[in-house]
Amino acid sequence: MATDLFSSNFSDNSYWWDENPRSREPSERIPSEIDTLIIGSGYTGTSAAIEIARGGRSTFVIDSQEIGWGCSSRNGGQVSTGIKSDIDQLSKNYGLDIANSILREGHNALAWIGDFIDKENIECDFVVGGKFHGAHTARHYERFGRQLAKYPVALKSDAYLVPRSEQISEIGTDFYHGGLVFEKHASLDPAAYHSAMVQIAESAGARFVSYCTAESIHRLRGSRGFRVKTGQGEVRARDVVIATNGYTQRATPWHQRRIIPIGSYIIATEDFGAETGSRLIPRARNVTDSRRLVVYYRLAPGGNRLIFGGRVSLAETNPRRSAPRLYRQMLTIFPELAGIQVSHSWMGFVGWTFSGIPHIHRYDGVWCSMGYCGSGIALSGYLGAKLGQQVLGLGEGVTAFDAIRFQARPYYFSYPWFLGPSIWWYGQLDRMGI
Ligand SMILES: Cc1cc2nc3c(=O)[nH]c(=O)nc-3n(C[C@H](O)[C@H](O)[C@H](O)COP(=O)(O)OP(=O)(O)OC[C@H]3O[C@@H](n4cnc5c(N)ncnc54)[C@H](O)[C@@H]3O)c2cc1C
Repeated sequence: MATDLFSSNFSDNSYWWDENPRSREPSERIPSEIDTLIIGSGYTGTSAAIEIARGGRSTFVIDSQEIGWGCSSRNGGQVSTGIKSDIDQLSKNYGLDIANSILREGHNALAWIGDFIDKENIECDFVVGGKFHGAHTARHYERFGRQLAKYPVALKSDAYLVPRSEQISEIGTDFYHGGLVFEKHASLDPAAYHSAMVQIAESAGARFVSYCTAESIHRLRGSRGFRVKTGQGEVRARDVVIATNGYTQRATPWHQRRIIPIGSYIIATEDFGAETGSRLIPRARNVTDSRRLVVYYRLAPGGNRLIFGGRVSLAETNPRRSAPRLYRQMLTIFPELAGIQVSHSWMGFVGWTFSGIPHIHRYDGVWCSMGYCGSGIALSGYLGAKLGQQVLGLGEGVTAFDAIRFQARPYYFSYPWFLGPSIWWYGQLDRMGI
């Protein structure tokens, strides 16, 4: 399969970069004294920059690569509430009230991104088309029903069950045992969305500096802010925001101990025509499924290609090796795509946390928001904006995550040695249908 798999114009970069490439032009250099330094130029950092610059502070966003090079221009474009943990897990960990507030934040994030795109007039193929979450086994379908019954009334209004006998209206496969539909979930072109955010931040006065790595951060005595060593020299800043998520490195060891970088792999197929697309996913919804090693897929804007992602191996690998594995998974769901070539294969590092929820936090005076556990399109922009409000000292920056401890674990410093065994075990459970 491997020789015929890749199309002649195959690229191992993000499909979304074809239309919105990351600029390789060197940007301006960073000045030595500023109000706010934001490290990381994805949705989190850029959203925080919009708020802070609009608050009148001189705001610089740095990135060790091109602007928006991380997850924010290479994701699947599936916009969800983003909270991975269910009500049972959250209630067990934090009590029912906090669990409900956390779930509500996911709904707030989903509402926020729709309003933001509308208000700022962003063209990024944003469509509220809903999501179909397929049940991998009949037992999973029953569990969906029990979970739905437990959700607070205000939060479950958009979700409903679709039994296996009716799922053909949702998806052109009998791979699933029914599923759950979330009507309010949306899709977008992630790189177009990110590029527009950068323009909005620049119009507000924020400046972006590419190829500038933060190497270390030192707190100055009293309330004199921070001295940050970067690849372009030292910068003094009153406030520092860490927005590095799955790419968090040794410049911020405290955060590195709390973020688990996990590779997420993704392919785009060649154009197979919109007619085939509407047979595969008739309502053009996003699709995920109930396996622990989740796959996620959707049609590209235009409905003529599949964007298919998931986890492919115990250890991290490269996009040429991940493509055949994702392709095989895709064919188990849609056998009719056999022979359709892959035009793009790429990957990125999502930031997982030990709690399974994101954290917006202030440690030793340094602000951060990270740990979206693979579903951060809505949450990162929303929490980035909240973080910006917190930096400005505004009351509306309060979130349900503020009081939750950002946990580390003994013997974890940066290399997730436990990932391989965990993925193996989850794979076994998936195969047993548990
Ligand atoms: C393949 C893939 C598919 C995904 N699909 C979806 C999806 O369909 N739906 C969804 O909701 N979410 C999805 N996600 C997750 C989502 O993209 C992320 O949660 C979100 O983009 C995180 O944004 P961020 O700004 O926090 O981080 P990022 O966009 O990753 O940005 C972090 C930036 O920090 C920079 N950086 C790191 N260290 C330093 C340093 N020391 N100095 C300077 N810069 C530094 C990096 O270069 C990087 O550009 C996916 C992710 C991947 C990888």
